[in-house]
Amino acid sequence: MNLTAPDKIANYIGGSLQAPLGGNYIDNINPATGAVYSQTPDSDARDVEEAVGAAKAAFARWSTTTPEERFKILNRIAELIDENHDALALAETNDNGKPLWLSKQVDIPRASSNFRFYATGLMHFSTESHHMEDKAINYTLRQPIGVVGCISPWNLPLYLFSWKIAPALAAGNCVVAKPSEVTPMTAYLLSEICIKAGLPRGVLNIVHGTGPGCGSAIVAHPDIKAISFTGSTRAGKEIASVAAPMFKKLSLELGGKNPNIIFADCDWEKMMRTTLRSSFSNQGEICLCGSRILVEEKVYEKFKHEFVRRAAAQLPGDPLLDTSRQGAIVSKVHFDKVMGCIALAKEEGGTILAGGRAVHPEGRCSGGYFIEPTVIEGLGRNCRTNMEEIFGPVVTLQSFTTEEEALMLANTSHYGLSATIWTQDVSRAHRVSASVQSGIIWVNTWLLRDLRTPFGGMKNSGTGREGGWDALRFFTEPKNVCIEL
Ligand code: NAD
Repeated sequence: MNLTAPDKIANYIGGSLQAPLGGNYIDNINPATGAVYSQTPDSDARDVEEAVGAAKAAFARWSTTTPEERFKILNRIAELIDENHDALALAETNDNGKPLWLSKQVDIPRASSNFRFYATGLMHFSTESHHMEDKAINYTLRQPIGVVGCISPWNLPLYLFSWKIAPALAAGNCVVAKPSEVTPMTAYLLSEICIKAGLPRGVLNIVHGTGPGCGSAIVAHPDIKAISFTGSTRAGKEIASVAAPMFKKLSLELGGKNPNIIFADCDWEKMMRTTLRSSFSNQGEICLCGSRILVEEKVYEKFKHEFVRRAAAQLPGDPLLDTSRQGAIVSKVHFDKVMGCIALAKEEGGTILAGGRAVHPEGRCSGGYFIEPTVIEGLGRNCRTNMEEIFGPVVTLQSFTTEEEALMLANTSHYGLSATIWTQDVSRAHRVSASVQSGIIWVNTWLLRDLRTPFGGMKNSGTGREGGWDALRFFTEPKNVCIEL
């Protein structure tokens, strides 16, 4: 199989690759160069209708395949992702702007892991049984829901797209999926892989387009019974307002403003290295990045000087070069948003300690969207810069003197996705972990992922959990059967 990025992306509906019914396309731009390099379907409700029809037609057969049959196909998809690792990594980097080494090391391996994890997971999935002594026995059936919708964002394109699709298919559902219109290429290449892997027609349908034009038609479709969404809190709210009155199952993985809490007794070198990653990996465009760095007063100055020096050395550059620690911001729109946030931080009285400016590399990438890693101090906990998600290479520093103050600062946020805690004191690690209002806590590490664990946030970071059995439970309808003895 020879995967190459086409000039014109097609929808994948009913097993075949087809043009959008309205004939409209969106420019697909490489953010590292600023140049248009392909066209993405600007699909609408008519394409979604076709996709839902194909998915409904495929459901009776797919939902009754054995776990072994589903395992074979999903595992084959994982193998084909691995076999096409380099082509997929290049496509991801050209679409998103992230360094090629990162696409190769993280995004593409994780996409095949997602399929492999749920291919094997479904073979071990079991349900509960509750015995009422000698009166009755209850057992729970977990049946596929039907047609489900999966909508994903641009920051980890194939990684997050497959994180939803794999458990949905494993559980026996048929899927109508939409990747971000900003980064559609690897989702398109996945359709070619699914065809090659022998996934039956209509089981997975990938419709490309914008949120308002295509995503909203998926959310509002009465025959789509569950929506798994990852993206902004703003879009999550809109989706919930449409889907909740229709009583659809909803999994919402939304934004974050995660605290990175550094106590003086931490393993300093490990904390410094990891904090650099948790601040600026993927240009800070990871929902789990620690964008609010909270440092114990007695080491604040030491941290500040060392961190600023290290951040300044993380200059972004051509994502195709191994030497570029950071790549381009995903789009001009997002570049403008992040630069606007930096300007706001200054207006709010913040001091830019490092970065704060756009970068214009020479040569191929001179028209790209690059921003220096930016470190800001001197802002109160309640200002917009510390409350609103920026989703770029921008972090703020705040100091605290006591554990209580650290917790107060951490929990000021309306978000509650993840938190990182740095301390060698095991009792404090447990105490603070239990009290921080976040769905995911890392102690003395960051982004160490075991796919079996519950993944998701509280507060404005969403509802529901992905990963492990949680995702298979989300994508099935539990039905209790009570038999009197
Ligand atoms: P976004 O909300 O703009 O778009 C996400 C997806 O939803 C895209 O496919 C988009 O086309 C679609 N969409 C937008 N509006 C829609 C609507 N009304 N109905 C249906 N679909 C709609 O988000 P983005 O800018 O692509 O991604 C960045 C955001 O995603 C950040 O807020 C980030 O924190 C969040 N994110 C969260 C997680 C998590 O696991 N919690 C992971 C990655 C990214």
